Amino acid sequence: MEGTDRTGLRAQTSHAEASTRHTPSLTEPVRTCVGCRATDSRSALLRVVAGGQGDLVPDLRRCLPGRGAWLHPTGDCFDLAVRRRAFGRALRVSTPLDTSAVAEWIATHEQATVRTKGNRQNL
Ligand SMILES: [Zn+2]
Repeated sequence: MEGTDRTGLRAQTSHAEASTRHTPSLTEPVRTCVGCRATDSRSALLRVVAGGQGDLVPDLRRCLPGRGAWLHPTGDCFDLAVRRRAFGRALRVSTPLDTSAVAEWIATHEQATVRTKGNRQNL
């Protein structure tokens, strides 16, 4: 059994350069909006996928399998994407997609966020 204590003189090896070069990117991964074509962080965009019945469904948890298209959850970007048929292109679907589920989701989502604009009373 060797119980010798080896602390001491060799502890000062230079470690100084290790941490400067590799800066892991702390920024969120970005995606391109299929509507306005701007890039934004994943959390700012809505992921949509083809639902299998020729319909487009919002992938709120961003975990559905298959190709996804990313979109700002706004009516403007949605309109642009529909007009350009960007969903079909992004999802590699050649048939027209039924976008009503996503349109509906965006409509309700927008209403919820655009509270500050007018003081309209909801009766
Ligand atoms: Zn957009």
